[in-house]
Amino acid sequence: MTKKETKSLVLLQHHLKSLRLPTILRESEKVAQRCANENVDHLGFLLQLCELELIERERKAAERRLKAAKFSNHKTLESFDFQAQPSVNKLLVSELMRGEYIEKRENILLVGNSGTGKTHLTTALGIAACEQGKRVRFYQVTELITQLLEAREERDLSRMKRQLGKLDLLILDELGYVPASKIGSELLFDVISTAYERQSVIVTTNLPFENWTEVLGSERLTGATLDRLTHRCHILELGGESYRLQDAKRRHKKRSSSEPLQTK
Ligand code: ADP
Ligand code: MG
Repeated sequence: MTKKETKSLVLLQHHLKSLRLPTILRESEKVAQRCANENVDHLGFLLQLCELELIERERKAAERRLKAAKFSNHKTLESFDFQAQPSVNKLLVSELMRGEYIEKRENILLVGNSGTGKTHLTTALGIAACEQGKRVRFYQVTELITQLLEAREERDLSRMKRQLGKLDLLILDELGYVPASKIGSELLFDVISTAYERQSVIVTTNLPFENWTEVLGSERLTGATLDRLTHRCHILELGGESYRLQDAKRRHKKRSSSEPLQTK
């Protein structure tokens, strides 16, 4: 490399740093070499570099969105066994994975007993939404209520609500395990009403609708919450018994059938 070329390279690296183009900075020499070998013209070279920078930016942004969503586990649709859960509408699940419901501000309710795969499917839907560029936040209902109560005490509720308002998809997992206090249910209702027709909400619950009053306390609040959630809503019912229980039974059966037959 001539002295002039070295100087240009140092300057270029400096400019790329100032412009915050780390991928172009890292790849430029390699791509330049390849383009020279393949007789790609200057515009083609620039295009290749810009594409690399964009791909890397999108990958990082998706990673950030996934982290910000705070899923409790990483679950995908590929690892969901539909045969073990025949009651679930596979066609509807695949349609929902495409994420159009978020554009339409529609909600999803997953209802079923404990262990039937509600959190698994919800997480898969949430991860798909992150990959599609959506801002998502996964909460266990009790965790959200605790945070709302704390924010209220610290006079920080409006900031928290503003943060929630920026989401495209709000996930409320496990409505029904712990009854909320009166203020707690009102705060939760407030979040759900604010989201109504502005954001999509996914709720998972082990409780049939008629029992929601047990958690939310007042009949009036339960009616109003259900009214908002179920208007423009997809419902996935997960029947049967717990997947873990089925799994344990299957393994037990396999073990007993492989045991040698007792002879008298
Ligand atoms: P729920 O939220 O309904 O209580 P989870 O989604 O937490 O149930 O499921 C319990 C465990 O069983 C999780 O580890 C989950 O990945 C697994 N599981 C449940 N249903 C299925 C399924 N149909 N295929 C594969 N794994 C499943
Ligand atoms: Mg769950």
